[in-house]
Amino acid sequence: MIQIQNYINGQLVAPKSNSYLDNIDPSRGKVYSKIPDSKSEDINVATAAAKAAFPLWSNMPKEQRSDIMLKVAQLIEERMDEFVGAESLDNGKPESLARAVDIPRAVSNFKFFATAILHFASESHYMEGLGVNYTVRKPIGVVGCISPWNLPLYLFTWKIAPALAAGNCVVAKPSEITPMTAFLLSKVCVDAGMPAGVLNIVHGLGQNVGDAITKHPDITAISFTGGTQTGKTIAGIAAPMFKKLSLELGGKNPNIIFADCDFKTALSTTLRSSFANQGQICLCGSRIFVERPIYEKFRDAFVEKVAKTKVSFPTDPEAKLGAVVSKPHMEKVLSYIELAKEEGGKVLTGGVQVHLDGEYKDGYYLRPTVIEGLDYKCRTNQEEIFGPVVTITPFDTEEEVLKMANSTIYGLSATIWTENLTRAHRVADEVHAGIVWINSWLVRDLRTPFGGVKASGVGREGGFEALHFFTEPKNIFVKL
Ligand code: NAD
Repeated sequence: MIQIQNYINGQLVAPKSNSYLDNIDPSRGKVYSKIPDSKSEDINVATAAAKAAFPLWSNMPKEQRSDIMLKVAQLIEERMDEFVGAESLDNGKPESLARAVDIPRAVSNFKFFATAILHFASESHYMEGLGVNYTVRKPIGVVGCISPWNLPLYLFTWKIAPALAAGNCVVAKPSEITPMTAFLLSKVCVDAGMPAGVLNIVHGLGQNVGDAITKHPDITAISFTGGTQTGKTIAGIAAPMFKKLSLELGGKNPNIIFADCDFKTALSTTLRSSFANQGQICLCGSRIFVERPIYEKFRDAFVEKVAKTKVSFPTDPEAKLGAVVSKPHMEKVLSYIELAKEEGGKVLTGGVQVHLDGEYKDGYYLRPTVIEGLDYKCRTNQEEIFGPVVTITPFDTEEEVLKMANSTIYGLSATIWTENLTRAHRVADEVHAGIVWINSWLVRDLRTPFGGVKASGVGREGGFEALHFFTEPKNIFVKL
C-alpha cells in the first residue's frame, strides 16, 4: 500500500506524529493508500524551511526560477500516464478526463507562469513638471496554498505556479481526500532540482494542517480554493492578522438558454456543463433556465441524452461519468435529491445510486439527475450540491430569468445561449458572475481574471492578476 509522505525542506518525510489516515479509492470504496496525519508541528517545520529558502529563491534571476519550473512541467509531461492513473484512481473521475483536462492543465499552469514572470514588468507614472512614480513588485515571502479535491493537481498547481514564479516560497496543502498527485508532484520537484524549502507540501486534515497554515504568523498570504464555509473560517482567522487573501469559493451557476439559441450546440454543451467530472466542477451549470417556446423540446432532448449517459468505472474508455469523490459526498448529493422531492421537484431522470459489478460494486456512483418543477427560491435551487444534479426551469422574459439567476448568494460563473448578439451582451452585463461564457462553456485562457463575486469569493486568479496577488507593490516617487 502506498504511504504518502510530506515534502518538507526538499525531503520526503513522515509526519512528526508518525500517524496516517486512510486514503480511499472511490471507484471501489476501498482504502488503497495512507496519508500523513500532519499537525501544526509539521507546518512549523515547513514554514521555517520556506523562510530559510526565501532569500535564495527570491534573489535568483527569474530566468533561472523559470527554468526550474519548466523542468517540473516537462517531468509531469514525461510521467503523464502515471499522473493520469493516479488522479483518476484518487478522485474517481474517468481517466479520459484526467488525460484530456486535469494533468495537461497542471503542465500548462507551470509553463504559463514560468514564462509569464519573464514578461512581468513594473509600471511607472510620469507627473508633468513634478517627477515620476515607479512601482516595484516584490515577492511577499512565505505564502500558503490550500486546494480542494475536485480538480486536485489542476487547482493545486494553479496556485503554486504563480506563487513560485513571483519568487515566493510556498507551504501547500492538497485536499486530504485526493492527495496522490500532489505527492507525485513532490517527487517531480526533487528530480527537477527545486531548491530545498522553496515548495513544501504538507498532507493532512483541514482542521489541522489548513488551520495551522492559516494561523502561522510567518505565512503572510493565503490562497484558498474550496467551500464558502471554509473560506469564511479562513478569512475570520487571517483577516485580523492582515494577511493577503485570495478566496475561490462555491457556486450555483445559471445556464440561461434562449429560444433563438443554436439548439444542437446548446444541448450537447449543456450535457457537459452539467455533468463533467460528475458535476464536481465549481464552474458546472447547476440551474438550467430555458425560454418557454423551446422548454419542452429542450427538456425532452436533454433528458433523453442524460438517460443514455454512461456511468462506469474510471478506466472504462466509454465512461462519461465515473465515481463521485467519497461516500459522505455521495450521501450528501443523495440527500439533496430527497430534499428536492420534498420541495415538490420531479426527478425526470436519475436520482439514484448506480451499483456496478465485481470489484467496483462498493464504489460511489450516481446516475446523472435532472429535476423539474422547483421554485427558484427553494433550497435545492439556492444551495451548492456539487454533484451530478441539475434543475431545469422555464422562463418567459429576460427580466424574469435574471431575477432567478441572480437570486443566490453565489456569483461564480454563468453561461448564456442566444444568437442575438445584443441580448447576449446585455444579459452578460447584468448577471452576477465573475466569469461568463456566451455560446460556450469552460473555454479557458490562462491570461484572463478568474474568480467570483458575492459568496463565490474574493480576488481573482489567472494571468497577471495572480502575479499581482503574489507580490507586494511598492510605489516610489522621484522628484525631477
Ligand atoms: P473544503 O472547503 O472542504 O476544502 C478545501 C480545502 O480546505 C481542503 O484542502 C481542506 O482540507 C481545507 N480545509 C478544510 N477546513 C479547513 C480549515 N478550517 N482551515 C483551513 N483549511 C481547511 O472544499 P472541498 O469540499 O474540498 O471542495 C469543494 C468546494 O470547493 C465546493 O464548494 C466548490 O465550489 C469549491 N471550488 C471552488 C472553485 C473556484 O475556483 N471557485 C474551484 C473548485 C472548487
